[in-house]
Amino acid sequence: MRYSQMLIPTTRETPAEAEVASHQLLLRGGFIRKLASGIYTYLPLGLAAVQKVARIVREEMNRAGAQELLMPMVQPADLWKESGRWQKYGSELLRFTDRHERESCLGPTHEEVITDLARNELQSYRQLPMNLYQIQTKFRDEIRPRFGLMRGREFVMKDAYSFDIDDAAAGRSYDRMYEAYHRIFRRCGLDFRAVEADTGTIGGSFSHEFMVLASTGEDTLVICGQCDYAANVEKARVAIRAGQQQGGAERIEEVKKVATPGMKKVDAVAGFLGVATDRVIKTMVYLADGDPVAVLVRGDREVQPVKLKNLLGAAEVELADDETVYKKTGLPVGYLGPVNLTLRMVADQEVMLMNNSIAGANEKQFHLTGVQPGRDFQPALTGDLRQITAEDRCPSCGGPLTLTEGIEVGHIFKLGTAYSEAMRATFQDREGQARPFVMGCYGIGVSRVVAAAIEQNHDENGIIFPLPLAPCQVIVLNLGINSEETTSAAERLYEELRQGGLEVLYDDRDERPGAKFKDADLLGFPYRVTVGKTFEKEGKVEIRRRRDGHTETVPCGQAAGYIVELVRGELAAFESNG
Ligand SMILES: [Zn+2]
Repeated sequence: MRYSQMLIPTTRETPAEAEVASHQLLLRGGFIRKLASGIYTYLPLGLAAVQKVARIVREEMNRAGAQELLMPMVQPADLWKESGRWQKYGSELLRFTDRHERESCLGPTHEEVITDLARNELQSYRQLPMNLYQIQTKFRDEIRPRFGLMRGREFVMKDAYSFDIDDAAAGRSYDRMYEAYHRIFRRCGLDFRAVEADTGTIGGSFSHEFMVLASTGEDTLVICGQCDYAANVEKARVAIRAGQQQGGAERIEEVKKVATPGMKKVDAVAGFLGVATDRVIKTMVYLADGDPVAVLVRGDREVQPVKLKNLLGAAEVELADDETVYKKTGLPVGYLGPVNLTLRMVADQEVMLMNNSIAGANEKQFHLTGVQPGRDFQPALTGDLRQITAEDRCPSCGGPLTLTEGIEVGHIFKLGTAYSEAMRATFQDREGQARPFVMGCYGIGVSRVVAAAIEQNHDENGIIFPLPLAPCQVIVLNLGINSEETTSAAERLYEELRQGGLEVLYDDRDERPGAKFKDADLLGFPYRVTVGKTFEKEGKVEIRRRRDGHTETVPCGQAAGYIVELVRGELAAFESNG
């Protein structure tokens, strides 16, 4: 590729709308351009990076025995009504009506379509197991698209679906994908962890997320320092420790109303009454699919909304603002409490251990002391509702936990028979009985992998592509385009590198050396070869590694062979690492 003929519109300025490094660098490097909110055009180098990921994904999926197909992006509503997700999926599903008044949607995922295919085409246990996948454009109408390719509305995804005769076989399919995903992300050259995760709107019983560790991650992970346990905080189980009963269990008090003028916050109430915040029951009103529900947690804890959503079986939950609380309940915000509360109530498991606690009196300027869970109030539901913290212990081994940021790039689910039962997708077993398929589904955000790779690998000058994902492995800079000798040496080197099987960008532009160096750093290809002054003086070229700046000079005639061997060796290491 000759730079002078390529569409690589690099810029020096950091675009104002880009908050994170990958978004900034993909725009500045001319990899992507925004068309509309959360919707991007992949320019030639951006597409090349996406295709690098896709190729690794495809090779490993095929190796694991999956078959590639391609399903439509537009899906009929009828299938989604059969699965029950037409209502449940929420506003991320972009619904529309075609010219014949048929309701449709843009596919955010393909469980319904593939289940429909399976029930029509797979009849016998002899055809199973079957794993089908596609690499395709998805659309999710994100409420707040941001971070460029990291959370767009339109994105490239690999989604696979497995069909098995029973749970044990489905478990083997899941394990095969778990292994394949490890191979894929290792081959991409990424530092990642597989973590236990929430199953979200996909449904199902069990799942793992594959997280690229990066400081700008949207997800927070909890990782045990002592065992293999790792989980998304949305899912991370909070272990109740033995003897956690608190508040002086030996002397059970009676409820007493006390004046707490102007004390609306937990901190203020606790300070005013001279107790720690962990003695106060925090009562908050959430809207679960629009209906108010009171949520109780210990005063020093935070509600984990995804856990709340799952406990309630709701599609969407959000914290209600003061005005909404007053409008929907007539209750005084800041003085809410569980005693004699007429709202539906759910409590974190820990709240039920809080003897002699303090809570709002549901009356302005008053709180109650001596509140006993169970005696003075009984929630409709109790469960693990709070956000885990670094002070908690590992739920598996009791070891110390650390919180770290990660970017989700893959997600695998055991679906069980949720879809096959809802959509009556069955096969005949050995005895001729009709049984529902036991399913799994497995996604990789192909375009997001590119963004995550950049979040993990960049510096102040630009991208540092891991070798397997780099659109080109080498950039050749011709710094003497007015010199016939230098130019013909650079051209020859470019040709030899290409003949050696490498992907090369040849910077043949009439630009100052400084501009060429800046662009080379910004684009982030692993090796830069400079044909310039050293060539004119000594017949040597300079080879510089982007990752660490390591530089060496090599006679021009030997450079191509040397680099080809270097790159091939490194690539082979990544592939065997898979
Ligand atoms: Zn542990």
